[in-house]
Order: sequence, then C-alpha cells, then structure tokens
Amino acid sequence: MSNSMLNIVLFGPPGAGKGTQSTFLVNNFNLVHLSTGDILRAEIAAGTRLGQEAKGLMDQGNLVPDEVVIGMIRSKLESTKGAPGYIFDGFPRTIPQAEALDRLLHEVGTEITVMLALEVSEEELTRRLLNRGKDSGRSDDTNEDIIRNRIREYNNKTAPLAGYYAEQGKYSGIPGVGSIEEIAGLIRAAIAK
Ligand code: AMP
Repeated sequence: MSNSMLNIVLFGPPGAGKGTQSTFLVNNFNLVHLSTGDILRAEIAAGTRLGQEAKGLMDQGNLVPDEVVIGMIRSKLESTKGAPGYIFDGFPRTIPQAEALDRLLHEVGTEITVMLALEVSEEELTRRLLNRGKDSGRSDDTNEDIIRNRIREYNNKTAPLAGYYAEQGKYSGIPGVGSIEEIAGLIRAAIAK
C-alpha cells in the first residue's frame, strides 16, 4: 500500500517557485505539503523556544541545524499517517537531511518517488526574491546581502542533493522560467513518466 504513495522532493534555489508549484501539486494530487520554512515561521510566530533559536539563523539566511528540521519532519510524518503522499518543500537541504528522510520513509515502507528540480538563473532569483520582499513580509527577502547568502548556502550545502537523487535515478530537471501554468504542465508530465 505504501509503495503506491507519491512522495516528491521539490527542489530548487530560493525564489525558484517551489511554494507556488506546491499549491498546484497539493490541489492536483491530494498530497500533504511539508515546508520546513513554513513550519519554522509558524514556530517563530508562536514564540516557541525552537522558533526563537531558529530566528537568528533564518534572519541571516543561514540554515538551521539538521537535527532541528529532521525532528520536525519526523513528527509531521507521524501525525499525518495514511496520507497518499507528500511534497517536501525546502527539505531536505543537506545530504544528512536526505539520508535521514530516506530512513524515516523506509521505516514506514515507502521511499522518495522523484526529485523535481526547478532550474532558474541566479540573476532571475535575486530579482524575484527582492520583488517578493516588497509584500511577503519576510525579513530574509528584503536585503540583497542576505539573499545572496541564502543562495550561497544553497550552492554549498543543498545543490549536492541533485547528485544524491540522480544516482538513484530520481532526478528530474524542470525549467523554472515561464508561466506558472507552463511549469505546472512540465511537472505533471514529469510525474506521469
Ligand atoms: P524557506 O522558506 O524554505 O526559504 O526557508 C527559510 C529559512 O528557513 C532558510 O533560509 C533556513 O534558514 C530555514 N530552513 C528552512 N528549511 C530548512 C532546512 N531543511 N534545513 C535548514 N534550514 C532550513
């Protein structure tokens, strides 16, 4: 039963459109959306200790520790048992996170189906993020240095995940430039493969 699950890692640098395309995937495939960034922002808003600890790192565009986000994902997987599948959005972001996710899914008899990687140039990303900062209310979207740091963190720690999933034959690159509908169409075709 679990093998029929559709478990997607939505991958791409900050500003690639992961959030936007998640909404499309949730609506079309009835998947549970797990965004570690959203969960962390909810923790900050609720004033929890975890949120307070994460906030300083997030405000600088640095990653929060692996154990923190792995623990968050573990508890979400437990609280959503029986879901038809998941979209992991903004997670995993490091190789240890990807290994932990494989173990967690293996424990419940399933695995990642595919990594959908949205590909967008750095100049376009910076432009989009600064634009988003005008109304997202996110402090990490308003300062160009912090945006560049987030992209640097991505290139150093997260980009190697493409190879991790490619080795397992699970990497699927999607050109992330075009209309939202066009990109959604490419994603649908990649999932149907
Ligand atoms: P996002 O909303 O995915 O862009 O995440 C916003 C910020 O939350 C990132 O810049 C990190 O500081 C933190 N964050 C979110 N997800 C992770 C993760 N999987 N690992 C480490 N830090 C994360």
